[in-house]
Amino acid sequence: MSVNDSCIFCAISTGRAPARFIYQDDSACSFLDINPLRTGHALVVPRRHVRDLADEGAVEAVAAIGRALQETAVLLSTKLDADGISVLQANGAAAGQEVFHLHFHLVPRRTGDGQLTDHTPDESARLTLDETHRALVGRAS
Ligand code: AMP
Ligand code: ZN
Repeated sequence: MSVNDSCIFCAISTGRAPARFIYQDDSACSFLDINPLRTGHALVVPRRHVRDLADEGAVEAVAAIGRALQETAVLLSTKLDADGISVLQANGAAAGQEVFHLHFHLVPRRTGDGQLTDHTPDESARLTLDETHRALVGRAS
């Protein structure tokens, strides 16, 4: 498995950095984004380090995250009662990519919750990251 020692998502995937995991299998994992656009905002990440969709190895990396995408979407829908889920994915700094390890954002949506680029307008309605994690996986870790 290709891992980059200076990559934060490789560090999370290999247990060298902490994360609030939602789903894990041999080839991918998902965990809560530390700066969520909406409650339950999750990142789905292949364990293989590839920079973005244009990188060599991206075909295998994308193929590796199918189950993680689906399982994470089911958890967000059922445990957080999302009305919908938006998927975001950035390739390159010009597109807003900040972490250069391929990843997909899954953002739970509520009917009428405004523009996705804005953080949720009603901060009091937000669960904390730990509360969100408990709602999704039944424990804090
Ligand atoms: P992007 O702009 O698509 O590269 O998004 C990177 C995302 O990773 C941002 O939404 C960050 O909040 C998130 N992020 C960065 N570091 C961490 C971390 N250690 N744990 C969880 N999410 C992170
Ligand atoms: Zn990486």
